[in-house]
Amino acid sequence: MIDYHLHGNFCGHATGDLAEYVEEAIAKGFREIGFSDHLPKVVDPDPYHAMLEKDLPRYVEKVLALQKANRGRITIKLGIEADYFVGHESETKRLLDSYPFDYVLGALHFLGDWHFTSKQGLARYESEDPAEAFPKYFEMLKRMISTGLFDVVAHPDALRRGAFLPVRPMEKEHREVASLLKGKGMAIELNTAGIRRGAGSVYPDRGFLAACVAEGVPVTLGSDAHAPADVGRDFEAGLDLLGDLGVTEVATYERRRLTEVSIGAWLDNA
Ligand SMILES: [Zn+2]
Ligand SMILES: [Zn+2]
Repeated sequence: MIDYHLHGNFCGHATGDLAEYVEEAIAKGFREIGFSDHLPKVVDPDPYHAMLEKDLPRYVEKVLALQKANRGRITIKLGIEADYFVGHESETKRLLDSYPFDYVLGALHFLGDWHFTSKQGLARYESEDPAEAFPKYFEMLKRMISTGLFDVVAHPDALRRGAFLPVRPMEKEHREVASLLKGKGMAIELNTAGIRRGAGSVYPDRGFLAACVAEGVPVTLGSDAHAPADVGRDFEAGLDLLGDLGVTEVATYERRRLTEVSIGAWLDNA
């Protein structure tokens, strides 16, 4: 199996050396993993959220060194998780073009000045109105996809929490996102962190994922591990859902080119 969403101690909110994630993945039978640490923020750099730009070359070197050192044991891809900030597309592109990334996860962690995925941002769920927040979130998501800067949408509905849910069905938005992803040749991430972070199910939810699958959008898999022990966490639930929706392949990347691999092939040889 693959896990394409792994962090590590390059940012302030994750723990563990990248080498520890590799050992954990091997011990759990993974055949391919990808690191996707947070790209330096192009607005308000913040070492808690993402490594600073001066550390990016060291991150790339470290992943490439691990890739080489573990050849024959496990395949390691050089990924990155990039925030989308409206109006800062060219700075983002400059950073992404400077390194030989295998894939780029595009992600929303901020809605205006609300860092909704952070521990500090949790309290604000109390005072935010889902009737306004979800439409705004989906607008941002569509803009992000339209930039063409990213290969995969990470945790596609991470705004969702236990009690914070859209007040109306988001089917239209799901279909629009699915169609944009298809048009851009992008994949959607099935991110199992939703289970342990209060959403109660994987990101995206079943309806959103089904809309993407119906449109023929490829799917990647990620645990969003911020500690080595979380590599591959809750993948059974993710694979069950993919099975239910009739998905038989997962998307892998090399130098930003997508190849779909049969899930059966991963499982048989895992
Ligand atoms: Zn993170
Ligand atoms: Zn993220």
